[in-house]
Amino acid sequence: MNCTSCDEPMIVLEVNEVEVDYCLECGGIWLDSGELGILLGDESKVKHVLKEAIPAPKKTETYRKCPICLKKMEEIEIGKDKKIFIDRCRNSHGLWFDRGELRNFAEFMDHGEGSKVVKLLKEMFGE
Ligand SMILES: [Zn+2]
Ligand SMILES: [Zn+2]
Repeated sequence: MNCTSCDEPMIVLEVNEVEVDYCLECGGIWLDSGELGILLGDESKVKHVLKEAIPAPKKTETYRKCPICLKKMEEIEIGKDKKIFIDRCRNSHGLWFDRGELRNFAEFMDHGEGSKVVKLLKEMFGE
């Protein structure tokens, strides 16, 4: 699978028994549908948060394509104070996280700085 941002081949990493596609070039992360909940250890809460997410206001002219169906993804906004923007495939293939966004999401999900998942993400993907 190639990175949707820079078109470089992505590597597969295992995080919390979930296969994560990671781009060494830009730090982007692709998660197949459902993997986010498993990775963060709380599937129903993740599902709920994603359902409540609102479409992001238009930020830039660039957009991401789903690496599976190559269709333009929708950008969603999560959180009130610290906003997190995630790209989601409209055909439910999965989610795209730019560098650092996955950790921000993990922190938002009540996994504070000291949590195992946040620590793990920091170790694997840096700041
Ligand atoms: Zn990339
Ligand atoms: Zn797709």
